[in-house]
Formats: sequence, C-alpha cells, structure tokens
Amino acid sequence: MTVQASCHCGAVKFKLNIQPEWLIKCNCSICSKLGTLWAHTLEKDAEITMPESATLAYKRKDASLAFHTCKTCGCTTHWWSVKRGEDERMALNMALLDPKILAQYRIRHFDGADSWKFTD
Ligand SMILES: [Zn+2]
Repeated sequence: MTVQASCHCGAVKFKLNIQPEWLIKCNCSICSKLGTLWAHTLEKDAEITMPESATLAYKRKDASLAFHTCKTCGCTTHWWSVKRGEDERMALNMALLDPKILAQYRIRHFDGADSWKFTD
C-alpha cells in the first residue's frame, strides 16, 4: 500500500511505497520546532514530486541532514542527507497526511535532544 501526502499548497507531493512501523516524534532542537512526525525510509522506497526550486533546504552547521520546506506554504515535507547520492537515508513528514489516515499510525517518542533513545 502506498501512503501519500502533499504540502498545503500542493507544490511538493510525496509517496511512500512501504508501510512505516511507526512515526517518530523527536524532541531535538529542530524537530521540536518544526512539529514533524517522521517516517524514516530510504530513497528507493519513496517518491518526491516537486519543481526543483520548490523547497528551501535548511542545514544546521555541521549537519548531516537538510530539512526541506515548501517556499510557498511553509510546510516541512522531508529531509535528505547532505550526502544525497551516496547516502540514501531520508524521512518524510507524515504530519502532512490526511488526519484520519494519520490517526492509524503508532507514534513513538524519540529523545533526539539527549539520550538518542526512544522514551516510550
Ligand atoms: Zn506548499
């Protein structure tokens, strides 16, 4: 089953071709401010459809991830590794799903701010 969603204005669309076991609510400095619910995956299992310049890519200093946000509507849609091409890891912001579908998923709390462990 494919899971799909888009940002509010529809410029950025994504599909996930596998079912995530759970979604991750992380309390690190960036995820807590973005309010994201991540499905971690690999690029081969996900498809992102967007015009090339549709997103702003935010990288923290020394960061390994780039957080992508729609320039038009402000929704954070996904992150890609800054080594995209050699590092296939990525995550989709499942908070953009239809709320009725989102409600079916288990949400796990991850202590990305400190211990780097699940706290549930
Ligand atoms: Zn948008």
